[in-house]
Amino acid sequence: MSQRTLNIAHLYPDLLNLYADRGNILTLVQRLRWRGIDVTVTEVTHRDTPRLSAYDLVLLGGGSDREQEIVGEYLYKFHEDFRQAIENGLPVLAICGGYQLLGAYYQLPNGQKVAGLDVLDLYTSAGTGLPRLIGNVAIDSPYGVIMGFENHGGRTIHHHDPLGKILQGHGNDGESGFEGVHYKNVWGTYIHGPLLPKNPGFADAVLATALEYAGQPATLEPLDDHVEQNARRAFLARRMPEVDI
Ligand code: GLN
Repeated sequence: MSQRTLNIAHLYPDLLNLYADRGNILTLVQRLRWRGIDVTVTEVTHRDTPRLSAYDLVLLGGGSDREQEIVGEYLYKFHEDFRQAIENGLPVLAICGGYQLLGAYYQLPNGQKVAGLDVLDLYTSAGTGLPRLIGNVAIDSPYGVIMGFENHGGRTIHHHDPLGKILQGHGNDGESGFEGVHYKNVWGTYIHGPLLPKNPGFADAVLATALEYAGQPATLEPLDDHVEQNARRAFLARRMPEVDI
């Protein structure tokens, strides 16, 4: 078998980097290296034009309202390229503020709308006088129980598939019982943690999708995840004892 290799783009790491979202990149890189798969990570900043055809996976982290306003402007210039790439199956993982930026807009508490990429049929509003949705969160998903931490003012509404059903926490809007979005090879979620170190099964699902998109064998040899699994059980026992895995 020829050497496998993945090209990952980390978009605006200097602006979208809340709650250690960079840990998601570290997890992807390490899980590839443990399996002898080559990986390059390109950090795309506002000075660069994202060359979407060069990447097998794109990551967007979370950000404060102010940072989202800045990133929204940069991103919008490329929204047509993004739409096409996503329709063609480009894998994208977007967290919180990054998730919100996949939609038509993010409406700030003062009513001002930050335009998003508009690549998914979703929108987000922070509302006026509404509390932030904060706390530990666990969801039932096709990748098993995904757990982490959420802290967002925005409420996201969409009619795509969710990433999962809320077991504990608030999720998309605090009311629907759903968390995140899954459309083609795009996943959006409010879950920080960071997300992927806490959820190695989901990390591998993202990697397998990216390998397949890159036209390479997508089978991933199992890793010894007992440390991660112990951490998951300990986190649930301490923070969300009603949730079982
Ligand atoms: N600024 C957004 C909100 O509060 C996203 C925050 C985040 O990325 N954690 O809804």
